[in-house]
Amino acid sequence: MFIGPVVLLAAITVALAVDGAGQPSALRHLYLIPTVWAALATGARGGGLIGLLAGLLQAPFTLPAMERLGLGAQSVDGLVSMATPLAFGWVIGGLVDQSRARGLRLQAVLDLQRNLSRDIPLQQRLDLAAEQAAAALGAERVGLVVGGATDARVIATAPAGLRFNEQSAVGWTLREGYPVSVHDLHRDARFASEQIDDPTPVRGLVLPLDSGSGPVGALAVERAGGLPSTTRAAAREMALHLALAVEKARLTLRQRRFTEELEEKVTAATERLRELDQAKTEFVSVVAHELRTPLTALQGFTELLLTRAVPPERAARFLSHLHGEAERLGRIVAELLDLSRIESGRPLELRREPVDVADLLERNVELFAAQHRRHRFEWTPDPGAPMLHADRDAVERILKNLISNAVKYSPGGGRVVIAAAPSDERPGMVELSVEDYGVGIPASHLSRIFDKYVRVPNPETAAVRGLGLGLALVRALAEAHGGGVEVDSLPGKGSTFRVFLPAQSSVLANFPNSSA
Ligand code: ADP
Repeated sequence: MFIGPVVLLAAITVALAVDGAGQPSALRHLYLIPTVWAALATGARGGGLIGLLAGLLQAPFTLPAMERLGLGAQSVDGLVSMATPLAFGWVIGGLVDQSRARGLRLQAVLDLQRNLSRDIPLQQRLDLAAEQAAAALGAERVGLVVGGATDARVIATAPAGLRFNEQSAVGWTLREGYPVSVHDLHRDARFASEQIDDPTPVRGLVLPLDSGSGPVGALAVERAGGLPSTTRAAAREMALHLALAVEKARLTLRQRRFTEELEEKVTAATERLRELDQAKTEFVSVVAHELRTPLTALQGFTELLLTRAVPPERAARFLSHLHGEAERLGRIVAELLDLSRIESGRPLELRREPVDVADLLERNVELFAAQHRRHRFEWTPDPGAPMLHADRDAVERILKNLISNAVKYSPGGGRVVIAAAPSDERPGMVELSVEDYGVGIPASHLSRIFDKYVRVPNPETAAVRGLGLGLALVRALAEAHGGGVEVDSLPGKGSTFRVFLPAQSSVLANFPNSSA
């Protein structure tokens, strides 16, 4: 490395000797060439060494002249030209050393960045970063903690496996968000660290990882002896890049989670749309079937009445059937109309009035009891039952839907318990409940049975007719009153539906100035 500059030094010295010792020759300025050469090639030490040699080699020419002439201008010129190579070599070499160190730091940061952006788990990336930082900073130990004082932390150390102590300088930086510089970790009582009686101090530097949006962790460096300013600067650069990488990793994670959630939502929505589509198709065929059954009865009976001479008592029976089927058709059409009203977003029209719920329940219970002999309807009239402030027709339809479901979905017969009482859960409301001991509803379907077209598949009730609209209407009607509906059910045990509707008194209580 030094051969070139040394050979050049020798050549210049020979040339100076030939030129004539003792004369201030311009050739002496050539000493700067090997000096700068050595400085560029080897830095401050090499440049200084060759500069010193160049100065010393001039001595045989300069010193005798000084002795001869005394300290005149010529002697000073000789001394300056002796010192110049040393100064040049040292300064230029120093600059070379600095730019080399900067280059190395840049390279280390680039390598760090490359590793941090690899598509591997964050823990692995931080492990690599800790190793790399230790090597680049010449540190004995490096610790990397990602995560604040409260959230889950990822810890990476070099050498691997070092433990993190809350009372250490790192813990302090994580809590406070400020850098810490410790002169000797083994003797500083402020932070928990092994107190070792070693003459070599262990310098500690902890930097918060902060890219500008608050600390996201800390980088700790321990180095025996000293922590030169270049090492500190390198550590600061690394901390900044680590903070940026952590922020990026967090953003990527958040973005990935967001994308996953979005995908899940889109999949769920698509599935729901598919179900709805299928339900609508089924609905059309069920509606057609539901309409066809009473229509067939109407056609058959009217044909009989028109074409045959039917005895009066048989004709009366036929007419009663006809009336029943016509009522059935009327109910289906009413449900469909309500449905289209709900679907188009138009509010259900309610004519609120005081409704005697006990009377309403009693009439319906009698009606159902007369038609369904296998079921035992239990209803204890309560003279103190509160009056409702509701649409009589709507309450009637709610009740009919719930009681007819209780009957339909307990095909083996059994008890149907009906009750009405002021609600404890919802003050100002009356709770109407219909309880059956039928097939029940699996928990997985409970949240959906109030949706339109939803019917729960069950082999025991496969023959039961229905449009999957009744409960949707019950909910819509109850909500239109400011109330609601709830269900408790156990498969194989039975179900209890509870509807909440406003009590007459609550309306007056809520609207004290009302004249109603
Ligand atoms: P449907 O016309 O099918 O009876 P509903 O909207 O009234 O329509 O009910 C929706 C579904 O909820 C029914 O198909 C049935 O599976 C289930 N269901 C409703 N009431 C009961 C009940 N009392 N017991 C068991 N299942 C019920």
